[in-house]
Amino acid sequence: SSSATDSKDLRAKLVLLGDSGVGKSCIVLRFVRGQFDPTSKVTVGASFLSQTLALEDSTIVKFEIWDTAGQERYAALAPLYYRGAAAAIVVYDITSPDSFSKAQYWVKKHGSPGIVMVLVGNKADLHENRSVSSQDAQEYAEKNNMFFIETSAKTADNINQLFEEIAKRLPRPTA
Ligand code: GDP
Ligand code: MG
Repeated sequence: SSSATDSKDLRAKLVLLGDSGVGKSCIVLRFVRGQFDPTSKVTVGASFLSQTLALEDSTIVKFEIWDTAGQERYAALAPLYYRGAAAAIVVYDITSPDSFSKAQYWVKKHGSPGIVMVLVGNKADLHENRSVSSQDAQEYAEKNNMFFIETSAKTADNINQLFEEIAKRLPRPTA
């Protein structure tokens, strides 16, 4: 139908997890505003943005995106953000093995079979300084039933694809 509130339209809460500085806020701002601001501020606590995405089958997905601060001192708040989430986007920086270890920590701590789990290697534009191989990340993702993608919030590479792949994996209402 052409109704504004089509029954197959979806609403999905997404949470971003990962170390501070890996580019979580930049990924969200690139997706929602189409911009990259290299002087963006550190996220304090959490921020919330929403964006809709039209899929090929004309389903409209409304994402409610919770962008958390990665700092350890906010870790206690994570369960609150996490509640009701349809997907968790766990981000690391491909130039930082430490951030990849941290991503694995977030997966262990907050991974859940009930939600779509995504592993994102960001800053793919910095490939000359790569220190986490795509293959290692892909293998880790497969073992943990995660979808894996490398992105660049700076160049916009794979940013829309990231959200499209999440949308494809969301549970559909049985009608
Ligand atoms: P957050 O703490 O995970 O939210 O990280 P931010 O989004 O605040 O980004 C941290 C820093 O990384 C900022 O200086 C950004 O400009 C930079 N950054 C974010 N994404 C990218 C990217 O894809 N490529 C490059 N080269 N820098 C990025
Ligand atoms: Mg941030």
